[in-house]
Amino acid sequence: MSKATANCRQESPRRVSVLGATGSIGRNTLSLIAENAADYRVVALTANRKWQELARLARAHGAEFAAIADERYYGELREALAGSGIEVGAGQAALIEAAKRPCAWLMAAIIGSAGLAPTLAAVSRGCTVALANKECLVTAGALFMAAVAQHGTTLLPVDSEHSAAFQAMDGSPVETIERLVLTASGGPFREWSREALRKATPQQALRHPNWDMGAKITIDSATLMNKGFELIEAHHLFALPPAKLDVLIHPQSIVHCLVAYHDGSVLAQLAMPDMRAPIAYSLAWPRRMATSVPRLDLAALARLEFAEPDTERFPALSLARQALEAGEAACNVLNAANEVAVEAFLAGRIGFTAIPALVEETLAQFERLEEAGAGGDLEAVLALDRAGRALARSLLEEYDDVLRPGLAAG
Ligand code: NAD
Ligand code: MG
Repeated sequence: MSKATANCRQESPRRVSVLGATGSIGRNTLSLIAENAADYRVVALTANRKWQELARLARAHGAEFAAIADERYYGELREALAGSGIEVGAGQAALIEAAKRPCAWLMAAIIGSAGLAPTLAAVSRGCTVALANKECLVTAGALFMAAVAQHGTTLLPVDSEHSAAFQAMDGSPVETIERLVLTASGGPFREWSREALRKATPQQALRHPNWDMGAKITIDSATLMNKGFELIEAHHLFALPPAKLDVLIHPQSIVHCLVAYHDGSVLAQLAMPDMRAPIAYSLAWPRRMATSVPRLDLAALARLEFAEPDTERFPALSLARQALEAGEAACNVLNAANEVAVEAFLAGRIGFTAIPALVEETLAQFERLEEAGAGGDLEAVLALDRAGRALARSLLEEYDDVLRPGLAAG
């Protein structure tokens, strides 16, 4: 991970932008910025469709530029911001423009592979990118990290486990690290039987026991695909081989990551499960800012439990590991198929256990996965993403009967 800060002026107030401003991470980021308003100047904010929320945030934070991804809402957004002096844009080009506006720090918090191109645009500007949008590393890890190195970008992980790892690693040489253990809460279905999982509904899956997050990542947490993505993310962020990466179920979500060193020491980072903690860490880095995150009271908690993940009931974790071993293209198709599957599950079209089943089938049927996209540029990565989605969608049509809720083959 590059820590080059040469081209990042630490001016005050610091110019900051938020991609995915209306989401769970985006709103938490802006609330921290508002609490320290004198220290920050908001440059650009983006959203997908929520133009009213985007307009409200842009006005509240005095942003310079507001970009809406879905062009159908350009008129509404422009009208809502009329007279404010805030510039308005729409579509993919506007997202890229938002990412390229000069700022010292940018939060990449779009969800899914839709965030790849804008986040790469921000990376190519140099300076500091706080990365929540893990799908950038899942779909195009090598390309992304090469761009970070090429442009001297400071990349700071926002995912709580990776922020924890970054803090516990504290710049130690990777050769001294024997193991990096990502913890997982296990989600709402940690103790559910296979039979019960087949009938799990979106409402049940959306009820995460510890974390308050956007819908897609909440489903990914319930299937453990999120933890699989995080293995891939850790591999790229910390240049650690897959064999050194582990997952441990930890229902309390207090210990976020453990870094085991070759002298037998293990360093961990602990905090209450509140995304404002890792976001604040990335916002203030290399310093620390005061936050109102609830304080840890270990005596009150009394117990911290750990267990091996059950990959029989949660095959998504194994699928992600296999994709990581297979390479870049497999990871890209893994993500594409998962995005299609999660959307279908949320729409009530397929059952919960059909999510990993559809992902597995897409990976199995994808032809010439080895060559596809390997070493490719952004266009090749996005083309492979589209091909993965198209195949997953056609399988969805083909297997609709077997995949539908309650009948999922899992
Ligand atoms: P969310 O669904 O709450 O918000 C997503 C944001 O992206 C919204 O602003 C939305 O308007 C925008 N967006 C969605 N689709 C888009 C598209 N096609 N084009 C442009 N913009 C689009 O998601 P979230 O929970 O805030 O997660 C954001 C990212 O952070 C994800 O990659 C997620 O994996 C990661 N992350 C989230 C959490 C968390 O606690 N929420 C924790 C760790 C990592
Ligand atoms: Mg995480």
